[in-house]
Amino acid sequence: MPASSLVDLRQLRLNDARALLEHGGQRLPDDQTDATQFLQTVIDQLSELSLKDPLTGLSNRRYFQSIVLREIEMVARSGESALLLMLDIDHFKTVNDQHGHPAGDAVLQVVAKTLAGCVRPMDTVARFGGEEFVIILPSCQGQYGQQVAERIREAVSALKIQLNSGVTLRITISIGGAFAPRWVRSTSELWVDRADIELYRAKSEGRNRVCIEAQPVLAVSAEEKHLLFGPLSLGDPAWIESIANDGSTGSSGSVMNRMN
Ligand code: GH3
Ligand code: MG
Ligand code: MG
Repeated sequence: MPASSLVDLRQLRLNDARALLEHGGQRLPDDQTDATQFLQTVIDQLSELSLKDPLTGLSNRRYFQSIVLREIEMVARSGESALLLMLDIDHFKTVNDQHGHPAGDAVLQVVAKTLAGCVRPMDTVARFGGEEFVIILPSCQGQYGQQVAERIREAVSALKIQLNSGVTLRITISIGGAFAPRWVRSTSELWVDRADIELYRAKSEGRNRVCIEAQPVLAVSAEEKHLLFGPLSLGDPAWIESIANDGSTGSSGSVMNRMN
């Protein structure tokens, strides 16, 4: 029996899903259409909604978590640089205190739009929570990362945010950044923590500034990198087994000598 004939749409309670999607600006197709197609659309739209921050329209923390894991995997395989930026609006509490929570919300929306406009299509901007945002920049070399972060900081500090009350607000952000460890698998928590330490440094050094963790200089050639980390990072079981069986000869032996 085909799977579609197992589903009778009339027996599903879809009102909550329908209300949620319509509130999120999405429209369900007519439920007279093919049941499988209808359910697929509901699933797709709910999935999309579950990855978005409702206030700013940016990706949310859940989406960020999946992207950060994918990026760690990419960096471990390719050895390319990837930068994680953590951004936090300076003295945001005073915006709420002096102008009200809706004004604070408007500021978050403007900042989100500005951040999204400062990055490449391949980059991910997400709302991490409260007045904190994160940006993942894949394939990002050291100097370029610093320039992007500075450009973002300047773009936010140049904003003149018009509130409904007629007041014009200026704000600043602090940015902390850390590169993913190259050729090695790490955890998303460690990467985020390192960027967070830099953000804390930016705050304590006076705010409205960028602090990025210095990248260790890799003084090995591309060929050596491949010998050192290529097969390991690909998790090649044959290569690992050959070391286990014979650690003194072949490329693994020369690698160990070079490392000592
Ligand atoms: P710092 O420069 O050290 O980051 O100071 P801060 O005031 O920005 O940081 P603090 O953590 O003291 O305050 C953050 C404020 O952000 C407090 C909280 O009410 C506000 N906030 C968090 N989420 C939202 C939101 O969705 N909307 C609004 N309007 N305010 C929010
Ligand atoms: Mg904060
Ligand atoms: Mg803040």
